[in-house]
Amino acid sequence: MVSYPVPTPIYPYLKPGRDFAYPEYTSRYQDVVDFRVKHLRLELWIDFEDESLRGVAELQIQHEGGGGWVGLDACEMQVEDVRMEDAGAEWRYDGAKLRVRVGPGLSKVRVSYRARPRKGFHFVKPDRANPERRPQAWSQGETEYNRYWVPLLDHPSHKHTSELIIYVPRGYVAVSNGDLVAKGERDGWSYWHWRMDKPHSPYLISVAAGVFEEYHEEHNGVKLSYYVPPGYGGVYRLSFEKTPKILDFFSQYLDYPYPYGKYAQVAVYEFIFGGMENTTATTLTELTLHDEKAHMDFSSDPLVAHEAAHQWFGDLVTMRDWPHTWLNESFATFLENLFVRHDKGEDEFVYELVRDMDAYLREYRESYARPIVTKVYKYPSELFDAHSYPKGGLILNMLRSLLGEEVFRRGLSLFLRRYAYSVADTEDFRKTMEEASGRSLELFFDQFFYNAGHPAIRVEEEWREGARQFVLRFKQTQGDDSLPAYQLGLRVLVKSGSGEREFRVELREREETYVFSLDEAPELVCVDPSFECFKTLEYSRNVEQHAKVLESDTHVYCRIIATRALGRMGGVRAVEALRKALTGDAFWGVAAEAARALGDLRSEEAKKALLTALDQVKNPKVRRAICEALGNYRGGEVFEALRKVLEDGEESYYVRQAAAISMGKTRSSGAAEELVRHIDTPSHASAITVGVLRGLAEIGSEEALRVIMRYTEEDKQTPARAAAVASLGRFPSRREVYDRLRELARSPNYRVRQAVIAACRELLSAEALQILEDIAQNDVYEMNRRSARDAAERVRKSLERGVEYKELREEVERLREENRRLVERVSILAGALESKG
Ligand SMILES: [Zn+2]
Repeated sequence: MVSYPVPTPIYPYLKPGRDFAYPEYTSRYQDVVDFRVKHLRLELWIDFEDESLRGVAELQIQHEGGGGWVGLDACEMQVEDVRMEDAGAEWRYDGAKLRVRVGPGLSKVRVSYRARPRKGFHFVKPDRANPERRPQAWSQGETEYNRYWVPLLDHPSHKHTSELIIYVPRGYVAVSNGDLVAKGERDGWSYWHWRMDKPHSPYLISVAAGVFEEYHEEHNGVKLSYYVPPGYGGVYRLSFEKTPKILDFFSQYLDYPYPYGKYAQVAVYEFIFGGMENTTATTLTELTLHDEKAHMDFSSDPLVAHEAAHQWFGDLVTMRDWPHTWLNESFATFLENLFVRHDKGEDEFVYELVRDMDAYLREYRESYARPIVTKVYKYPSELFDAHSYPKGGLILNMLRSLLGEEVFRRGLSLFLRRYAYSVADTEDFRKTMEEASGRSLELFFDQFFYNAGHPAIRVEEEWREGARQFVLRFKQTQGDDSLPAYQLGLRVLVKSGSGEREFRVELREREETYVFSLDEAPELVCVDPSFECFKTLEYSRNVEQHAKVLESDTHVYCRIIATRALGRMGGVRAVEALRKALTGDAFWGVAAEAARALGDLRSEEAKKALLTALDQVKNPKVRRAICEALGNYRGGEVFEALRKVLEDGEESYYVRQAAAISMGKTRSSGAAEELVRHIDTPSHASAITVGVLRGLAEIGSEEALRVIMRYTEEDKQTPARAAAVASLGRFPSRREVYDRLRELARSPNYRVRQAVIAACRELLSAEALQILEDIAQNDVYEMNRRSARDAAERVRKSLERGVEYKELREEVERLREENRRLVERVSILAGALESKG
């Protein structure tokens, strides 16, 4: 009798994921409308004093039928009048939809309104933390927030041209999409008239107004503008100097020149994201601006590249509907990585991919799994997660390697040309890539875009000396929320004395064995050396084998896998290899990984290796990793080393931040006083203050809590406040902590409210649950509602598991540490025996 393997089916949504959709979630479909908006002309008066807006929006509406009622999105406004051309109009307003009766063909609808937006449009004024600030106002349209300050048909698929005439106090600047048509003074106001003459999606309409320093340059016929708050003129270049290179690279890679005449980047205070790719007018957080010192190990280039990439993927071609968010975000993430490759080389690129994988796996393990394309969601903003950004980016990278770079690029260019100034969905993209490559991609898309999860590959190697055969066994070990078996291609490099050979394997089943004839036993084997295949990968190797890879393989991806394995295994040989990598690896990323692995080992030898390296290593990114790793160790020596770093003005801000956090973890006597001494050290984005606060939270003393509470107050900078608020999560038994969190749950500061959620998530108490439920119900922003709900679920589950849970966790941690010490003692003994034998 012959038994055949059970065939493994693959079809869309076979694996719908877990924990992403709450029980009441259903499929969302776009509203069908029988009209089109062709143009929006908005006159907007910004009253900074009153934090309110007055607007006259004129929409050109084309009715597809014989005329009738049309519904515009207009939330929480005071609609004063609606007119057609110059006559009155029939209209109704319910606080969310403005319905107007239009005739057949083209109508001009003019809406006069006032608004005091709770979201979508923010005012920032001087406050106790920043008395020197000049007022600013900025909009944030994505996902569906522009409807809070301008009446429009607020869905990505309805593209139209736009024109904004923005009135601001004299001396203020207002930036918007498109070209500056006119500016001047009128009735005591300054006005800025911007016109975007290519259709774009409503969520990309933008206003950023305030007092700015402006810098302009021309590059290949495109006007590049940089607007920064006063005082940043001396350093703005550090953040933006690569803009021309970035635009050149994307234009050339995509074989599609920058689609517009202007590209402005505006840095604003208290922005709630890193950046937003408004068409031709990106808004960025002020925190991306930095001085020379921060420039040692902090870069704006990835953010600048990400938002610039969106000008093609997102703005020129836009997702048809939110389920296809990845068409915007995965592309921006992946193109950002490609720019890194162009700018800094292959090693940096691969390390970006590795860290994207880490980010996706964190979400997959700690939160949920979902298909990248899904209609089942409640708020569009829920789809802006690590599935849409890094996971999708990694899958695009896999598609690039599957098709070959040239074909891949040809496909992207074709896609851009075909859907320029329009919208597209996942199937449009698939079909375009099929056309460019001449091959079916249905299986590929079903596996990676329409199903949750990921392949997990385990590799076993065997050398058969007699037969001169090298055997590779591949096992797909992914769990039940992923497909049972993926079809994947992998490159395998095999290096032996006689040279390097490359093989390609095609996996189909859950277990497959490949046998290669070789003249001699392989010295180094590297599966998927450039990390082209989206998957997790582990080898059944011993310490010696991993150590050898780390010491001699030329591929960053393989060395990182070896490093991480050694960090789990430990022993003298592991520490030796990691120590060498930490001080000697050609690529800083592997050195930093080695530091982390030495931290994980928690052994005396590993500690020594870290301390010694701290005296030798210069690269601030590696130094940061060393300081972080030292946080797993105790004792006077560690404390002293960290103290020196924290004190040293020559160190980078972020190295000092890491030192401060780890110093707190040592819980050495004197740590708290030492930390507090540095708490107000000026640093980029309050990096050192944040480090000190987090260090104090680790100490967890009465005095630490007092200082942390002080930094939750309004006179502190937002990054410091947010760190202080999040640190309250370390004080579960204190009444005043809950009182403070309850107050801050209603703070107008978005990042502070996010920090309240983070704190409550750690507190795991009934009081925390109450606060989370309040945010989950009431926060103005849906993303906060969702993360509060997730945190509440976590707290509820932990409460259900009973009070012993936390104690159990501590016990496990203690046992783990003891075990590591034992393992080390054994390996030292073994080493001693070996050297004698
Ligand atoms: Zn983005």
